[in-house]
Amino acid sequence: MKDGTPQTIATIAVIGAGTMGHGIAQVAAAAGYRVILRDLDRETLARGIQSIERNLAKGMQLGKLTEEDREKTLENIHGTTQLEKVATADLIVEAAPEQLQLKQDLLREIESLTDNNFIFASNTSSLSITEIARASQRPERVVGMHFFNPVHVMRLLEIVVGKATAEETVGTALEVGRRMRKEPIIVKDVPGFASSRLGVALGLEAMRMFEQGVASAKDIDKAMELGYNHPMGPLKLTDVVGLDVRLNIAEYLHHALGSETFRPPDVLRRMVSEGKLGKKSGEGFYSWHEEFGDARVARPS
Ligand code: NAD
Repeated sequence: MKDGTPQTIATIAVIGAGTMGHGIAQVAAAAGYRVILRDLDRETLARGIQSIERNLAKGMQLGKLTEEDREKTLENIHGTTQLEKVATADLIVEAAPEQLQLKQDLLREIESLTDNNFIFASNTSSLSITEIARASQRPERVVGMHFFNPVHVMRLLEIVVGKATAEETVGTALEVGRRMRKEPIIVKDVPGFASSRLGVALGLEAMRMFEQGVASAKDIDKAMELGYNHPMGPLKLTDVVGLDVRLNIAEYLHHALGSETFRPPDVLRRMVSEGKLGKKSGEGFYSWHEEFGDARVARPS
């Protein structure tokens, strides 16, 4: 897929200051963009900005950032609850909850507020960019920018190209992503994009092997960690992501792609129904214990 000549971006608006939105605002501000961060109320917005402050303080402690970097990043971020302010941006990245209707309504409402030629990027992990763009008068300016959690740490950025997305829009997303110090890949708008489709396939196969008693959870993970240089094995990663989250994605991909690869294994359904959701519930393929302050370490169950 070719990319077009990028548009100049000075101001980026981020919709949603939650898990992903605050991180996207942080990397955009660190890259020197003026950032407008919007959430629905002042408290949620303040929590998002506090998370950015914590990330920056940690970066300084680790010697990765200077006081000047910290100040410049914070100076570039302007919090708001008003959608009108979002409408002044050149690029709008939405990180609102994963609901098609909500994302489409936001896009429609912003277009009704301005004639600006903004680009609208969705951080959706599973919805179709082509579907989101159906709400727009200018679907060629709608694209996926799929960041990974935690945004300030994870290098990958999936740029998802909808049916109507213009080359210039892809080119702009690529340039912005690189300036945010991400490694972008360009992916067609298909269910699971590139990352979830491969990652979930590996995770589900690991569960089937666990179910069949091929090896313990720890040894299945070790096979990938030591044999294939994965930083974390697929079962431990499933615990970190949440077994319920993985089950939802597997059901969606099984339905959308019609492939048996994504049929959720019985062990996954059973563990979710027993409330074993992984790290967040304390129990999954591993038991999770609070040790060393707030660091959580896993031990095989
Ligand atoms: P979250 O629930 O942590 O944050 C969503 C935020 O959006 C909340 O603070 C909420 O108050 C706010 N919000 C709701 N409606 C809004 C509106 N109309 N305007 C402005 N803000 C609004 O969710 P999240 O985990 O950050 O996920 C956001 C998006 O990112 C979803 O599409 C999700 O699929 C995607 N995503 C999540 C992850 C992840 O690991 N959490 C990874 C990649 C992509």
